[in-house]
Amino acid sequence: MILVSFHAHPDDEALLTGGTLARAAAEGHRVVLVVATLGGAGLAAGPRGEALAARRHRELLASADALGCARVAVLGYDDSGLDGSHPAAERFADAPVEQAAHRLAAILREEHADVLTSYDVNGGYGHPDHLAVHRVGARAAELAGVPVVLEATVDRDSLRLLLRVLGLARRWLPALPLGDTVFTPRARITHSVDVRRYLPQKRAALRAHVSQAEGGRGPRTVATLLRLPGPLFARVAGREWFVQRGAPAGARDDVFATVRRGGSQ
Ligand SMILES: [Zn+2]
Repeated sequence: MILVSFHAHPDDEALLTGGTLARAAAEGHRVVLVVATLGGAGLAAGPRGEALAARRHRELLASADALGCARVAVLGYDDSGLDGSHPAAERFADAPVEQAAHRLAAILREEHADVLTSYDVNGGYGHPDHLAVHRVGARAAELAGVPVVLEATVDRDSLRLLLRVLGLARRWLPALPLGDTVFTPRARITHSVDVRRYLPQKRAALRAHVSQAEGGRGPRTVATLLRLPGPLFARVAGREWFVQRGAPAGARDDVFATVRRGGSQ
């Protein structure tokens, strides 16, 4: 099986799909990581722009290594920034869908991809680059004829519960308003994947994103996760969720069985 995992910025691959990618690689599948941008407008303590993009590229390669990815490709767009206001020449959020989809489709064809992971219809928490991953992923899969598209998401119901239990709601909620337009309600999720066996790889991948785990402005999801003690980390990071495009809702556990069936239900 050849799995191509498409993400907006370095660190998204570890946060949303790290366990699934590590499991796929460990089971002998070819895992290819594609990012649209190098995250030059991300939150960091140091300088942003080109210098941050170069630093985050190195971090991405280290993360991919930890997860067992065979190849890392970059579509070469500019990060649009969290509020979409970062000035840049070629912001991914503004890129024509057809143009970006052709860039991704070329990689999908070259790899003979069996499955593409992208993002849910809400672009997770609504970052303009994440919304673009949803649109571009769907179109690229169409262009390249990839049979299975799994849209990475988070189970909104369990995230709400967990944040409340952990007392993290106050820290995250300003940037992560858990209303009805973020992530996916449990009823619409098609794949809920237990990745607890692959938490060491997922943690190593998160840790590779040093620029996102150190001081800086705004909410630090990577830093917060890495500070959690083992059992809590397992509760928060031990499961990953997907919505398969075109499939009826109702959680199935095994992404890999779906892929083996070539997406047939
Ligand atoms: Zn992102």
